[in-house]
Amino acid sequence: LSERLGGILDRLTGRGALTEKDVDAAMREVRRALLEADVALEVVRSFTERVREQAIGATVVKSVTPGQMVVKIVHDELVNTLGAEGQTIDVNSVPPVPIMMVGLQGSGKTTTTAKLARRLVQRDKRKVLMASLDVYRPAAMEQLAVLGRDLDIPTLPIVAGQQPPQIAKRALEAGKLGGYDIVLLDTAGRTTLDEEMMTEAAAIKAAANPHEVLLVADSLTGQDAVNLARAFDQRVGLTGIVLTRVDGDGRGGAALSMRAVTGKPIKLIGTGEKTDALEDFHPDRIAGRILGMGDVVSLVEKAAANIDAEKAARTAERMRKGQFDLNDMREQLLQMANMGGISGLMGMMPGISKMKNQIAAAGIDDKILKRQVAIIDSMTRDERRHPDMLKASRKKRIAAGSGQSVEHVNKLLKMHRNMADVMKAMGSGKRGPLAGIAQA
Ligand code: GDP
Ligand code: MG
Repeated sequence: LSERLGGILDRLTGRGALTEKDVDAAMREVRRALLEADVALEVVRSFTERVREQAIGATVVKSVTPGQMVVKIVHDELVNTLGAEGQTIDVNSVPPVPIMMVGLQGSGKTTTTAKLARRLVQRDKRKVLMASLDVYRPAAMEQLAVLGRDLDIPTLPIVAGQQPPQIAKRALEAGKLGGYDIVLLDTAGRTTLDEEMMTEAAAIKAAANPHEVLLVADSLTGQDAVNLARAFDQRVGLTGIVLTRVDGDGRGGAALSMRAVTGKPIKLIGTGEKTDALEDFHPDRIAGRILGMGDVVSLVEKAAANIDAEKAARTAERMRKGQFDLNDMREQLLQMANMGGISGLMGMMPGISKMKNQIAAAGIDDKILKRQVAIIDSMTRDERRHPDMLKASRKKRIAAGSGQSVEHVNKLLKMHRNMADVMKAMGSGKRGPLAGIAQA
C-alpha cells in the first residue's frame, strides 16, 4: 500500500492541504488494501469514509510527502478503530470468577483456555480451575485434561451424561469449595454459525453468569468474522475478543471487522500452538499487518517524528518571541510525556538540554503531566491565552472541571509563569534556561 500510495501522491508537488482529489485517489488504494486484508465490506465502507473526512483538508507538514501523510492518517484511524491498548481480561470480582469461551469449532477455544489459565497461574498467581463443557466430543474433554496435566493446572473431573449448563454449575460449585479464584469454562463450538450453538451458549451464560464472555476467533477468518461476532454478541453478549493464529499469515482484517461491528475490545491474541503463545493486543501491530507492508511502521514513525518536530519548532519560535501561553505549555507537557518529543524540542533550543534533569528533579512524572494537561483542558480558549485573567471563581470552576484542587491549578499557573519568564530571558539571552522549571 505504501508504495502505491507513494506512487500516486509523490507525484503531487503541491504542499499545504490535501485536496479531495488526492484523497479520493488514495482512498481507492486504501480500500483495495483493506479488502485484500479480508476486512468485511461494510467495515471497509465506513472506515474509508471516516478517513476521507479526516484527510481532506489535512495539512501536509513540511518534510512529509502527501503519501506519508495519508498513510499516517489511515494508520492512526486503524489504531483508533482497533481500540486502545491495555484492555485485558478482568478477573476482579467475587471468586470464583467465571470466564467463558465461545466460538466456532477449531477456532482455538480449548488451547486459549489453557493459555489463559497458564498466564493467570504463573504470572498473576491466581488459583485456576478449567472445565470443558464440550459434551459432543469425548476427545475434547480429554484434550483439556491433557493440557491441564502438562501445566499442572486442575480440570473439572469428567462426569458422563451432564448437559453443558449443568457442568458449568458444577464447575462453579467445585470452584467455590476448592477456594479457586477463577473458573475457565471451555465450551463446544460448531463448524458453522448455527442456532443450536447459540442457544447452548446462551443457556451456559444464564447458568454461570460469567464475568467475561470471550469470543475466540481465528484471525484467518475473513468476511465471516462480522456475522460471527455480531451473532454471538446479540445472542450471548460478549465482553471481549481473543484473536488466534496471529502467528500465521492472516492479514488481521478479521480483527478490524469484529472490533468495528461489536465495539468489543480485542483483549488477547494467540500467536502459536504452545500454551505460552498468548500476548496482549497491540493495535499498532495489527494495523501494520492490515496495511500489509513491512515498512509501514517506520514510515509512520518517520511521518510522526516530522510532524512532532514541526510542532516543536513552532512552539520554540513562539517562546523566543515571549508568546508562551498555556496552549504552548500544554503542547510542551504532552511532548514531555513522551521523551522523544522533548529531546527533539531541546535539540532546537541550544543550552536547554540540561532541562531533562531538572524536570526529573522537580518530580514531573507522567501522572503529574496528565493532571496538568487536564487542568489546561478545562480552561476556555481565552483563559489559555491570558492566564493572568484567572480569578478565584474561575480557578474554582477549572479545578472542579478537571477534578483537581485549586491548589493544583495555582501550582500549574505558577509553573507557567516561571517557564514563560525563562523562555523570555532565553530569547533575549540573559538567563540560564532552567530556573523556571526548578522553581515550579
Ligand atoms: P477449539 O475447537 O476452538 O477448542 O480449538 P482448539 O483449541 O482445539 O484449537 C484448534 C487447533 O488450532 C489446534 O491444533 C491448536 O493447536 C491450534 N491453535 C489454537 N490457537 C492457535 C494459535 O494462536 N496459533 C496457532 N498456530 N495455532 C493455534
Ligand atoms: Mg475445544
